[in-house]
Amino acid sequence: MATDSSSESKPDAECSCIMFDPPVYKQRYNWVIKAIKQLNPKTVVDMGCSECGLMQKLIRAEGLSIKELTGVDIDGVVLQCNTYKLKPLMTDYLKPSREHPLTVRLYQGSVTEPDSRLGNVDLVACLELIEHLEAPVLAQFPAALFGKLNPRVVILSTPNSDFNVLFPTLTGFRHWDHKFEWSRREFQIWCDGVAQKYDYDVLYDGVGDPPEQSSHLGHCTQIAMFTSRNTRLLLLSQINSAADSYELFAEYRHPFIKQKLTHEEKVLLEANYYINFLAKSQVADDGDTSSVDGAIEVSVPLSKLMTFPCIKALCASLEDLRMTLMKCNSITFDPSGDHVITSITCEESASDDNEDDVSCDTQHCSSDHMYTDPECWD
Ligand code: SAM
Repeated sequence: MATDSSSESKPDAECSCIMFDPPVYKQRYNWVIKAIKQLNPKTVVDMGCSECGLMQKLIRAEGLSIKELTGVDIDGVVLQCNTYKLKPLMTDYLKPSREHPLTVRLYQGSVTEPDSRLGNVDLVACLELIEHLEAPVLAQFPAALFGKLNPRVVILSTPNSDFNVLFPTLTGFRHWDHKFEWSRREFQIWCDGVAQKYDYDVLYDGVGDPPEQSSHLGHCTQIAMFTSRNTRLLLLSQINSAADSYELFAEYRHPFIKQKLTHEEKVLLEANYYINFLAKSQVADDGDTSSVDGAIEVSVPLSKLMTFPCIKALCASLEDLRMTLMKCNSITFDPSGDHVITSITCEESASDDNEDDVSCDTQHCSSDHMYTDPECWD
């Protein structure tokens, strides 16, 4: 017996006496990932993405077909604080494992004002969102999502209030911001009505199993999956006429495997990694925190770059390295041509992110087919 972290990432109620393993929020994410593996959507939207937990999982999950992943939330502060979770890591550039491009976007906006940039979306997940909507907002939600965006599939989850009797100290709702919590019957009546109005089929499931003797109460979280019955072309005109109401907070293009890379591209890839590493080490050693606009300028000797086996394997001599890097517009040299000038942000210099640990210096060398297109990095 322990706590329930089922309903929210930060549960309000100290009411819980049921332990879920894995926690119910992870079970919800896993449920969505399993559905995505079966349905193979190319475009996925996480409505009410909050701390971007599901998006982070979807970016890292193997074998998914997603090419465009978009998060939407009304709360700009929560988006700002969690944007970093969606960025590609340095290791993603060095050893990409993704076979297809993936673009990740984060928008601030409301589920009730669909944005034309989300038109034609294959799958929308709304986990633990609807119970946070005031009645008038909830009333607009189906027309905006099912009527206008008209995704091929919609996955909705919400607390099952039938289950609440298993939280003996719970009074009221599971979270302070819940505007309601529905029984399975109430949820199914609402979902059936939406499905009928917007021409969807709907299936019910849940996660967070009840104890054996309480199976009649259903799951801790109830889930509905809607599948569109109509051909979506008819509705595209509606979404095309909608305004672009969302504010773009972030956009990241994740690197993917590209079969062929030129010699210069390989050298640049490795050199960038070690220039960054050496710059960070230098700043840490010098304790230099003087910066212009938050950036610290560092001069990295080419001779030091040549000490790394990956660079040596690509360039026969220091001169070879210099000539190759000089062809790359993105590398700046000092007047002598013996040092590369780079700048790192104060945040980077303070980061102890182990993705940049030099201990990987002999391991991260990549074989030809493991590189990505540098043009896809930004
Ligand atoms: N889906 C998240 C997950 O599974 O990790 C948790 C969602 S959190 C419990 C509910 C989120 O809905 C909050 O981040 C809140 O800002 C967002 N929200 C509330 N009203 C909204 C609206 N009208 N449009 C978009 N997001 C909204």
